[in-house]
Amino acid sequence: MLDLLVHASQCRSPLCQYPNCRKVKGLFRHGISCKTRASGGCVLCKKMWYLLQLHARACKESQCHVPRCRDLKEHLRRLQQQSDSRRRAAVMEMMRQRAAEVAGGS
Ligand SMILES: [Zn+2]
Ligand SMILES: [Zn+2]
Ligand SMILES: [Zn+2]
Repeated sequence: MLDLLVHASQCRSPLCQYPNCRKVKGLFRHGISCKTRASGGCVLCKKMWYLLQLHARACKESQCHVPRCRDLKEHLRRLQQQSDSRRRAAVMEMMRQRAAEVAGGS
């Protein structure tokens, strides 16, 4: 499934026999020309973004040809950093409370 996105983004054959290749290429084409967009509720666009996100999460290729892959990876990396620092802040807060409890209890 993820290979399919990589394949479809590079495939130039209109008669490709790769399963679902034409379907995915159709989605990419749609995403470029769509005026509604996922934010406007377009089901096809949402599906495309879902596939691209799945791909970007698993993708290790820094020069990936899949549309938006690098943007999405950057986006995911930022989200990851945010949740990391939130988690760290929560742990720090918990330790501070624990220390206050210990200090108060003795
Ligand atoms: Zn193909
Ligand atoms: Zn659309
Ligand atoms: Zn990729």
